[in-house]
Amino acid sequence: RAKDEGRDSFQLYQATMNARSLEHLALETALHRAISRAELLLHFQPLVEVGSGQIMAAEALLRWQHPQLGVVAPADFIPLAEETGLIVPIGEWVLRQACEQHRAWRASGHSRLRMMVNLSARQLRDEGFVDMVSRVLADTAMPAAQLTLELTESMLMEGSGCTVEVLERLRTLGVRLAIDDFGTGYSSLAYLKRFPIDELKIDRLFIRDIERNSGDAAIAEAIVKLGHSLGLRVVAEGVESAAQFAILSAHGCDFAQGYHFGRPVAAAEFPLPD
Ligand code: C2E
Ligand code: MG
Ligand code: MG
Ligand code: MG
Repeated sequence: RAKDEGRDSFQLYQATMNARSLEHLALETALHRAISRAELLLHFQPLVEVGSGQIMAAEALLRWQHPQLGVVAPADFIPLAEETGLIVPIGEWVLRQACEQHRAWRASGHSRLRMMVNLSARQLRDEGFVDMVSRVLADTAMPAAQLTLELTESMLMEGSGCTVEVLERLRTLGVRLAIDDFGTGYSSLAYLKRFPIDELKIDRLFIRDIERNSGDAAIAEAIVKLGHSLGLRVVAEGVESAAQFAILSAHGCDFAQGYHFGRPVAAAEFPLPD
């Protein structure tokens, strides 16, 4: 009896595994076709300048409009795209699309808006990456100084394959570099000195309970101070309330992003500044 149960649960396990790998395979095949079938799209979330409250930038956030599954969030397909290397063509598509959107906004008179684009480690390891960025900037007439590329701490870790040289070359093109989700990565602060970074984005983990948790408030304040003393601009992510915004403002944070100012939306719904 015990033996039967054991066998049954093993078969169930096998069936589940097969379903999982099938799902994985199906998703990978579908993701391959996502670009050519125009199923990828960008949403844009505003960043505001803390001092003026003005919208000064848009972060491009990738979505996949799957014909059966509906809108798939990046957390559900970017890991697969990284594993399979598909992030390289997808990342190029994202950058081009973001720069095209910026061109359209410039054409309608919003010439000061900046654009933020997320990168994956796999892209930075790609030999042609810097040339690709350079080509896209040229093709879309994008003012390089208005583009910020977002990296994460883990991408700057020793052995990640991302070199100071690649980042220096990107900087030479004129683009800015930001560290996303700052404070959550497993790395030393030494890279802040070594890499040519322009901005820090405080992870929303430290913002969520900033009103109640004095530890979080102290960390957010310390990141602002650290950033400023290194000549960097500091952005707070995940700002959801006026109270959180007030605390960050008191700490001298430069920019803020979060549902309090606007969720990520399609370009047509983006709250352009006056
Ligand atoms: P991220 O770059 O840190 O982007 C911020 C994420 O936090 C977004 O989730 C955004 O919708 C969400 N968010 C913004 N404000 C708030 C808030 O006030 N409260 C809460 N709870 N969440 C907020 P999303 O769009 O699901 O993206 C998740 C992550 O996927 C991004 O985190 C980024 O790491 C990655 N990602 C998105 N687009 C791309 C892309 O084009 N390329 C790459 N490589 N990664 C991307
Ligand atoms: Mg980001
Ligand atoms: Mg982030
Ligand atoms: Mg992130």
